[in-house]
Amino acid sequence: MTAHAQDPGRETHPGWEASANRETSAPPARGPYDEEAELLGQLSEAAGISGWEGEVRGIIRGQLEKMGVCYRTDHLGNIIAYRGPDDEHAGLRVMLAAHMDEVGLVVSGIDKSGLLRFRKVGGIDDRVLVSKSVLVGKNRVPGVIGAKPIHLQQPKEQENPFRAEELFVDIGARNKEEAEKVAKVGDPIVFATRFTRLDERRARGKAFDDRAGCLVLLGALQEKYRVPVYGVFTVQEEVGLRGAQVAAYAIAPGLGLALEGTVCSDTPGSEEHLQATRMGAGPAISVMDAATIHNRRVIERLVEVAGKAGIPYQLRRTTSGGNDAGRIHLARAGAAAGGLSVPCRYIHSPASVLDLEDVVNTRRLLVEFLHSLEEGWTP
Ligand SMILES: [Zn+2]
Repeated sequence: MTAHAQDPGRETHPGWEASANRETSAPPARGPYDEEAELLGQLSEAAGISGWEGEVRGIIRGQLEKMGVCYRTDHLGNIIAYRGPDDEHAGLRVMLAAHMDEVGLVVSGIDKSGLLRFRKVGGIDDRVLVSKSVLVGKNRVPGVIGAKPIHLQQPKEQENPFRAEELFVDIGARNKEEAEKVAKVGDPIVFATRFTRLDERRARGKAFDDRAGCLVLLGALQEKYRVPVYGVFTVQEEVGLRGAQVAAYAIAPGLGLALEGTVCSDTPGSEEHLQATRMGAGPAISVMDAATIHNRRVIERLVEVAGKAGIPYQLRRTTSGGNDAGRIHLARAGAAAGGLSVPCRYIHSPASVLDLEDVVNTRRLLVEFLHSLEEGWTP
């Protein structure tokens, strides 16, 4: 049907937006961040709203298998990888968490006209939705988020942004029957954003929150540690830190670190003291957010390790937001909490921007920190 028609001349895979010239031109010669960009691109373009993390899980399992890292998957869909001594009780048990899910939409109904109605999954600003290209369901049916055109809006209507309830997804179907052949209530909807290098270091893509954290965690799991290190790729963070809760119960860590792509507001409109993080200034060490007051000794240790290794870092200068650490540090008898994040501009929107050097430095600091625990340090 028309909603599925593919342009045979198109070089992108089915469902993706046709790329601009810049994006399809021959890749530049191998550079220092190409390896990170390649994997981040795969992770970013995978569809994975909360509860639908399967595609992301598939990529991560493939990487873990390539690396020879043992892992298991629990009933919620968390991947729990292990990198430590045979005796899982030999030393401080560390749980690292990066969430696989992203914010997005879910089909909530199909109109007679063939237009899809939706609900939001996770925190998305209604104002970023209008006119965005999206992909619906596991077959990546392309569509666009439609709204009443400006020509037909009353002056009063133009004063307020559209609410999500007023919007719809147009997949080109002529009527309900046609739409039902390719979409159904409950299908996930993700933004159709191609991963793009903006220059050698900077990249644009969707879902860097938290595919950037997933990339950092995969990198850290390439090393072996003499303390029990559990790398958990969690599910359903964006709807309430749910995967981390059960994984932390299973692992019973003494120390929990959330690895994130976090809010970055080093852009016009934010005074310097309100800039939570700055892009390109290194990993952001969490001090406090809405779900966690991070352990002072963990913060000091991260700062000390960064100083010794010459790794740039910054302290995250906001108390809003929350992540998996919020559940991990409250599991069972409690754990010391820490957080390391890659600054990402415009998170929870169709396109974010990050600096690949921040990704590399976040991984470096994490690896150095984990090795430093082998001296017998405890929080
Ligand atoms: Zn996140």
